[in-house]
This record gives sequence, structure tokens and C-alpha cells, in this order.
Amino acid sequence: MTKEETEEKTKEIKDPKQQYEIEICFSCGKNAIGLDECECGSTQIIYGNGFKKTKDDLFCDCGNNQLRLIGHINMAKFHYYTYSCTKCGNKIGKQSKKNKDDYDYEDDDNE
Ligand SMILES: [Zn+2]
Ligand SMILES: [Zn+2]
Repeated sequence: MTKEETEEKTKEIKDPKQQYEIEICFSCGKNAIGLDECECGSTQIIYGNGFKKTKDDLFCDCGNNQLRLIGHINMAKFHYYTYSCTKCGNKIGKQSKKNKDDYDYEDDDNE
């Protein structure tokens, strides 16, 4: 596999959060657009549209804070979880960076 092909392939699915407006650190709530890891050291990034993070909770703009897990993507370096607001269906995602030991390269080997 050439380098170009690899990059093209990863670009498609690499970063589900790119299509959303908000990317913030799950831990400190700071803007974390384009980051794998927040400056505070947290490796969990929340992304989506129309939600707010308070110190301890996450609120959809409809005022609800109940989220249901509806999807999970397991990538080489990240887990992506998709949640849906139980009231209005707004989708909110979480990117969780894996520990180096947990990196999964089998995608690259098999194709
Ligand atoms: Zn942070
Ligand atoms: Zn909602």
C-alpha cells in the first residue's frame, strides 16, 4: 500500500468529529479543536453541535442531560463513541485516545 492510499483511506474515517462545530475537553471543558489530547492531559474530547458542558455534566441545548450510547467506532488510536440526547435526538460524540499499549494496527496489516 502506498503512502497516498493510506492517507486517503484514513482521511475518510479518521476523524468523525471534524464535521462538528464544538470540540471540547471532557475534563476541563476547554476548546480542543483538532487536538488528540488536551493541554490538561485529558485524552477525552467531546464533540458535536448544540451542547454545553458544565463542571460535572453535559447538557444538550434542549436542556436535557440524559444521553444514550448509540454507536462506537474502534480506530487504531482512538475510540469514538456516539451518544444521542434522549429528548431531542441531538448527537454528541466522544473521542477517547487509546493508550500506546492498546494501539491497534491490524487495519494496516490486513489491507
Ligand atoms: Zn482539558
Ligand atoms: Zn436534546
